[in-house]
Amino acid sequence: MRKVTVNIEEKLYQNRYRVDVGRPHIHIKNVEICTNDCADKSCTFICPASCYRSETNGSVTLITDGCLECGSCRILCTDHHNVEWEYPRGGHGIQFKFG
Ligand code: SF4
Ligand code: SF4
Repeated sequence: MRKVTVNIEEKLYQNRYRVDVGRPHIHIKNVEICTNDCADKSCTFICPASCYRSETNGSVTLITDGCLECGSCRILCTDHHNVEWEYPRGGHGIQFKFG
């Protein structure tokens, strides 16, 4: 039997995301905490959709477009409790298509 391989990027490409313009469902409560008090900035590594980005000035930016609603960032940030997280409004957010 022929083995078919699909990488993560290809799987993610199967999904669709409906943006709730101007109403992101996740917020960083205090960006100063990310910049000054969080050495690891683990959210920038753990997010499977790369929603968090570490900037050259030490800050962290968050763009929720493409968020998979896995909840990892909320759980990961328990040291600082700096992530405000809720599901997107109905009809918005991720629509899983494959796998
Ligand atoms: S883990 Fe929390 S405190 Fe640290 S950079 Fe991410 S959101 Fe900010
Ligand atoms: S819920 Fe998951 S996919 Fe969405 S921003 Fe957090 S870590 Fe990324």
